[in-house]
Amino acid sequence: MSSWKVLDGNSRQAPSCPASRRRRGDHRDRGAHRSGGQRRVGAGAETIPVPGAPGLGDPLFPLDGNGGYTVDRYALDFDWQAPRTPFEAKATVRATATQELSRFNLDFAGNTLHSVTVNGIPAEAVREGDELVVTPWLPLPRSRPFTVTVTYTADPTQMRHRDDAIEDYGWIPTPDGTVVYPQPNGAKMIFPSNDHPSRRAPVTFRITTPDGLTAVANGKLVSREARPGDRVRWTYDSEQPVSTQLVQIAVGKLTAVDRPTTNGVPIRDYVPNDLVDRTDAYLKLTPQHLRWLEQRLGAYPFKNYGVLVGDTDLAVALETQTLSLVPKADLLGTEVDAERTLVHELVHQWFGDSVALRTWSDLWLSEGHARFYERLYSEEHGGASFEAAMKTAYTNHNVWRRDFGAPAEPTEPNLFKRMRYDGSALVLYALREKVGAETFQKIDRAWVTQYRGKTASTQDFVGLASAISGEDMESFLRPWLYGPTTPPMPNHPDWVATP
Ligand SMILES: [Zn+2]
Repeated sequence: MSSWKVLDGNSRQAPSCPASRRRRGDHRDRGAHRSGGQRRVGAGAETIPVPGAPGLGDPLFPLDGNGGYTVDRYALDFDWQAPRTPFEAKATVRATATQELSRFNLDFAGNTLHSVTVNGIPAEAVREGDELVVTPWLPLPRSRPFTVTVTYTADPTQMRHRDDAIEDYGWIPTPDGTVVYPQPNGAKMIFPSNDHPSRRAPVTFRITTPDGLTAVANGKLVSREARPGDRVRWTYDSEQPVSTQLVQIAVGKLTAVDRPTTNGVPIRDYVPNDLVDRTDAYLKLTPQHLRWLEQRLGAYPFKNYGVLVGDTDLAVALETQTLSLVPKADLLGTEVDAERTLVHELVHQWFGDSVALRTWSDLWLSEGHARFYERLYSEEHGGASFEAAMKTAYTNHNVWRRDFGAPAEPTEPNLFKRMRYDGSALVLYALREKVGAETFQKIDRAWVTQYRGKTASTQDFVGLASAISGEDMESFLRPWLYGPTTPPMPNHPDWVATP
């Protein structure tokens, strides 16, 4: 362990009762205004542990994520009972300190907190809004792993609402189970975490259910074991790191439906038992969608895929990693509408899931691409004209710009408004008109290849577009992404944007 010194100069004693000891939080306010890192006092002075930053400073959600450590793995234990019944939960967070750490935060909202330990020793834990402030008994040395264990009673009815395309998020009860909608920052209602899209870690899920129900989560099923009291424990491993906003945990009377393995990707849908027949005609199109997208974007970035059909009244689909959540309503209407949703969420596995957002202001890259390929596919398969849709978006673009912010300049309330969907697909359309379809495809393929499994920003995309096209795309894209008015559309001098 590195040397450390408490700021008030007192030596630490051996662990006693952490709750009764004096909080080493006299420097709390300093932590709230620092961005992490350690304080050095004088030349050659030893490093003094300081609190990790309470947030990553995202322009839209500054307190989401946390500083001072990185998460190496989450292990989540859920003793699930019934759709609206609280249940016991335990989150084990394996992390590594990135500084000498006197205190750190997790993002955690609601639920009933029971205990927090760090490396097995009870730690002081204080809740401040959506922050869980943890003071370990001993400071944590830089570059060393540590384990935080949080026990709590989870509230599976806990949700929040946004007045945009998200609608309700958090835990969403179904008639016989639950699904989760963590986007944008509702994972903190489900488990204590670094709840920001740029912070990814693998997740182990252990979900115990009554016998007769099925639990599913991201990644692959590792085991299914009988437990006492007619219960079953399902263990899933995300296999690849996952952003908290893309975690899926679902329980219900679900049937696993295997589709043909496509280009080496196993496909397994989870469908409420009584909807299997009625949704099959559309769900069995996923292999075709996957082949179509792989022709354009290259290899699918994860090890498996499937659709989880949500038995809820929410008409919102979500690209939860390797297991897209699609509401039943989207699969009980027309084929054109069903395919648009299915393709949109599958595109996200490349854009937003594999290539993660650096900040929430980069959302246009994820939603813009999902909408772009969704419309392109739809046009080729009986849907509306892509160009006509883009012309309509162009007409409205200044109005959206005014009402919802420029594509790469959202605010917290307008994040998931139309500018991030058709308004951002239009920016990609403009880029394609500018550089040509062939170069555009090279840019997108390079994007999902070069940044596969990484986070990337708007600036990264502009830089890559310049590098691939051999032209300065900064001067072209900047007005589209940030300017006060929508620029002229290349090759379409007749298109007019309503002022
Ligand atoms: Zn989307």
